[in-house]
Amino acid sequence: MKLSELKNGETAVIVRLSGHGGFRKRIMEMGFIRGEKVKSVLDSPMHDPVKYHIMGYDVSLRRGEADMIEVLPEEEAKKELTPAPSFSCFSACEECNGCACRNCTQRKVSTKKNNVINVALVGNPNSGKTSIFNAVAGENEHVGNYSGVTIDAKTGSFNYKGYRINITDLPGTYSIAAYSPEEIYVRRHLFEQMPDIIINSVVASNIERNLYLTTELIDMNLRTVVALNMYDELLASGANIDYEHLGGMMGIPMVPVIAKTGKGLDKLLDIVIELFEGKNSTIRHIHINYGNTLEGELAPLSEEMHKASDLPYQFPVRYWALKLLEQDKEAIAQLQGCINLSRWEQMADRAAKRIQASLNIDVETAISDAKYGFINGALQETFTPGNKDTHKHTHRIDRLVANRWLGFPIFILVMWVMFYTVFLLGAYPQDWIDALFSLFGDWAKHIIPDGAIQDLVVDGIIGGVGSVAVFIPQILILYLFISLMEDSGYMARAAFIMDRLMHKMGLHGKSFIPMLMGFGCNVPAIMATRTIESRSSRIITILVTPFMSCSARLPVLVLFAGAFFPGYAPTVLISLYLLGIIVAVLTARLLRCTRFKKDETPFVMELPPYRIPTLRATLRHMWEKCEQYIRKIGTTILVATIIIWFLSYFPRPAENNHGAPANTEQIASGGGYESSFIGMIGRTIEPIMAPLGQNWRSSVAIITSIPAKELVVSTFGVLYSSDTEEGIEEDLVKSGDFTPRSAAAFLVFILLFFPCIATIATIATETGSRMWALFSVVYNTAVAWVAGYLVYLIGGLF
Ligand code: GDP
Ligand code: MG
Repeated sequence: MKLSELKNGETAVIVRLSGHGGFRKRIMEMGFIRGEKVKSVLDSPMHDPVKYHIMGYDVSLRRGEADMIEVLPEEEAKKELTPAPSFSCFSACEECNGCACRNCTQRKVSTKKNNVINVALVGNPNSGKTSIFNAVAGENEHVGNYSGVTIDAKTGSFNYKGYRINITDLPGTYSIAAYSPEEIYVRRHLFEQMPDIIINSVVASNIERNLYLTTELIDMNLRTVVALNMYDELLASGANIDYEHLGGMMGIPMVPVIAKTGKGLDKLLDIVIELFEGKNSTIRHIHINYGNTLEGELAPLSEEMHKASDLPYQFPVRYWALKLLEQDKEAIAQLQGCINLSRWEQMADRAAKRIQASLNIDVETAISDAKYGFINGALQETFTPGNKDTHKHTHRIDRLVANRWLGFPIFILVMWVMFYTVFLLGAYPQDWIDALFSLFGDWAKHIIPDGAIQDLVVDGIIGGVGSVAVFIPQILILYLFISLMEDSGYMARAAFIMDRLMHKMGLHGKSFIPMLMGFGCNVPAIMATRTIESRSSRIITILVTPFMSCSARLPVLVLFAGAFFPGYAPTVLISLYLLGIIVAVLTARLLRCTRFKKDETPFVMELPPYRIPTLRATLRHMWEKCEQYIRKIGTTILVATIIIWFLSYFPRPAENNHGAPANTEQIASGGGYESSFIGMIGRTIEPIMAPLGQNWRSSVAIITSIPAKELVVSTFGVLYSSDTEEGIEEDLVKSGDFTPRSAAAFLVFILLFFPCIATIATIATETGSRMWALFSVVYNTAVAWVAGYLVYLIGGLF
């Protein structure tokens, strides 16, 4: 029977996996292996995907993918399955027997005689790597509770007991099989940077699956210490690990830690130093036994490879041989320099065929099976599972949040509360900041004599920067929500319930997370697409993310919605956000039907247990974003405002050389700006924007929005500045330049127009192609114009 046929609440045992190699490999490293018990827990509101429970954790899988997993009821499975491999699944490295073999020796020799230790943090997503990193290095690093918050490696340094420790927080991976971009990243880091010590963060309460990655570190013979993280959860569940014994068997020291509170981290660092100094007694090089058939093929191959002198020294011979048997592309690429590579490949090829024929499973499956066999064997002697269900509350919340009827309403409610809070609650501090800047402006006016300098400082710098700075509260609130959703685990549920819909638009539920982050800032959002394994889904997600209205666009939207649609502002805002989403959906469908016809990768996503976000992590995240925003104000926006001011101030019209226009009539007539440089630029573009009901001033704003969208507001701040006490909102309304109809067209244009230079640059780097960046610019501009035009036309009907 197929796994997909299992009803909620039923349990069965996996007997066979079908499907293509990538799918199988992925699913195996997540714990779906022969003989493993799996329980169908909950359907998502649209029946697909389904939440399964396996190896003590929750994972979501699409029905189509669960079709490829064959299961049987426990009793029948017992008869079907050949007994698991024997439990003496490892041996000490024979050649070195205490680490004297070529590779081990080289590793030891690599111990530099200085006091800098390079440490790399490796582990599954959500295993607490970033928490460990933050606790020891104290860096402002975002901590998140869904797969893939850490995308790039972040490095921090600190001093400990006379050593300078450089620690790198690598992206979370389930294995280092070079399957997803993150895995490739981690493997390259280990290969190229050769960190002295690896800290492998392992979730103690989910140890079986987490140790899978550890077995790969064993194969790579890296000096590793396991941080048994979230030990508090393990204790709470009533489970028990004899970690010293376990570490002894695996040849890797293990330290229980609670990264959240910093408990055990001192001990962890002590062991790092011990390992570095070669004074640890637990560490030893072991070989995982892959069974007679595999070992029989592995031996001649590694013997042959052993003869070569040009084999990269980073990893042991046995590891390279294993990778060749698996036909691992990344490894083959790293071995390109070896003269005998093609001969080895042929040997490995024939060996793999023989293994397949004799075991009736492919090499990768055989290796995964053996790895889990090894882990099982080691855990059998050292691990007593707990009897308390610590995830009871998670199941309860999930039953509500992913409920067939309530799932979507709850989700929409959360979104609605988020945007409403941003708008309503943000308004108060916004007024305060506004008042502060006016005071500041008055004071500057007071002390600087009349003239160009005063205008530059008051209208240009203080006015321009102030009009952007007032949105700091909104951005803080937005990130408060995003951060809470990430850290609590709700974000993964959002992906879970949205997958069916996302699938309909040709994407993954996982695409939903970057898209949602796009509401914050498109740059990290586009970077967050790295968690999507499928390249086609990833590129589509990257290209549609700019339609998610980022927080930089929020000031413009808030200003215009407030000025021209008083009383309906929140509705207008929500409609605009929705419009962005609709355009994104249509674009995704379009791309799926034309350029990217097929989607290849499975939707397996861990559903982490709900955790109460820590105040520290949330504040840290908010502050980090706020800091970025302030930095942007202090650099890009400041410089751009000065340039805009300059372009708008010169050349001075002959009849009005005493300063900027002083009253509203002048503003209405175009004031002194019409003949300025900026006026000329605006006039040049005006004909293109005229069908959208725009004049030269809004055309200018569109140009100035290219470096950063917030500049629209500061541009209007400069162009419509008046001496009246009223804010820019009143000035805009009074100018008579906009009707609700043209304001709506402007809003739509700004919403869909490409976000900023930084986003375009990110698209180029993330897709690895300038073509896609160019496509994005052209496509988004065209869409923005057409949509704006349509809105203006439709507006004319009322
Ligand atoms: P990463 O994805 O590996 O970088 O993991 P994070 O550091 O982002 O942590 C994932 C989640 O686990 C966050 O919600 C943390 O607050 C939580 N967490 C981290 N360490 C501990 C711990 O020792 N105990 C408990 N209970 N939770 C932890
Ligand atoms: Mg992290």
